[in-house]
Amino acid sequence: METIKLSQLITWLEKTAAYMQENKTYLTELDSAIGDADHGFNMERGFQKVIGKIEELKQSKDASVLLKNTGMTLISSIGGASGPLYGTFFLQASMVLKDKNELTLEDLKSSFENGLKGIKSRGRATTGEKTMIDVLEPVVTTLITAVEQNLTISDALTNMLAAAEKGMKSTIDMLATKGRASYLGERSVGHQDPGATSSYFIVKALKESIN
Ligand code: ADP
Ligand code: MG
Repeated sequence: METIKLSQLITWLEKTAAYMQENKTYLTELDSAIGDADHGFNMERGFQKVIGKIEELKQSKDASVLLKNTGMTLISSIGGASGPLYGTFFLQASMVLKDKNELTLEDLKSSFENGLKGIKSRGRATTGEKTMIDVLEPVVTTLITAVEQNLTISDALTNMLAAAEKGMKSTIDMLATKGRASYLGERSVGHQDPGATSSYFIVKALKESIN
C-alpha cells in the first residue's frame, strides 16, 4: 500500500521551517494589520527550534515521537496564541500515530482530524471566525473525502492544498471573533488572517514533501 515515509515527514518539517523563514516579514505584516505584528517572528522562531532538534529526531522510527516533539517544542518556544494552538495540533496529531514508521492516507487523515479537534477545543473557536481553523477544517474535510474516494496520496494532497488556499483567501472577508483581531471588530474585515496563512504554508510544505 502507498504510504508516507518518516523521511518525508522530516522533509515536511524542514520545508515548513524554510517557508516560515522566507515569509517571516509577510506573516508579520499580515499580523500588523489586525494583530500585534509578531506572527512571522513567532512561527520562524518556533520552527527553527524544531529544526534544531531534527538530527536527534531522525534517529526515531516512530512518527508519533517526531510530531509529539514538534508540538512540545512549539508550545515551549512560541509566546503568542499560535504556539499553544499549533503545539496542540501536532501533539494531538501524534496521538493516533503510535509506533507507526509510515502513514497511509487514512493515518494522515486521522492525525489531521485529531489535531484540528485539539485546536478547536483549546481555542474554543470554529470555522468562520477568521483563524487558522478556516484553513485546517477544509483541509481535514478534503482528506476525509479523499479516503472515502480511495484517492492516491498525491491526488489527495493536491486537493488538500487547493482547499487550504481557498480557505486562506476566504478569511479576507471575514469578521474576526476570536484572538487579537477580534478587538478590531469591523476593521478586521478586508485583511487576510496571519494564522490561516501560516497554516497554508504548513500544508504547502507537506504537499511538496510527498511529491
Ligand atoms: P498572538 O495573537 O498572541 O499575537 P500570533 O500572532 O502568533 O499570536 O497568532 C495569531 C493567529 O492565531 C491568528 O491569526 C489566528 O489565526 C490564530 N488564533 C488566534 N486565536 C485563535 C483561536 N482561539 N483559535 C484558533 N486560532 C486562533
Ligand atoms: Mg500576533
